[in-house]
Amino acid sequence: MAVRHGIPGRIPAEEVDALNENPPAWLAQSRANRTGKKAVWVQLTCDICGFSEAVRPKKWWPTFTYLSCEHHASDELPDPQPGLARTEIDGIGSRFIGIVDDAAS
Ligand SMILES: [Zn+2]
Repeated sequence: MAVRHGIPGRIPAEEVDALNENPPAWLAQSRANRTGKKAVWVQLTCDICGFSEAVRPKKWWPTFTYLSCEHHASDELPDPQPGLARTEIDGIGSRFIGIVDDAAS
């Protein structure tokens, strides 16, 4: 296990402390598995019609400003705030589009 993740068998105590304080994703995950804790689920709810679905969040998901079912028109959602750029990410859950309004870069 440790070897597979590239951590030598013996590591100085301060490095162990650092790992405990700020565990990398794989370590947090393996600890969650060990304690039998269920993977985190999130409730996705369409901001237009209220359709709701519980899904396991994907690691790459940003924070969505709005969620919309795929079949809604984009003008059914409020326009982004002035100065924000809108990005639409489809393939969220089984039928959602994630909308992210972010400061234009
Ligand atoms: Zn909807």
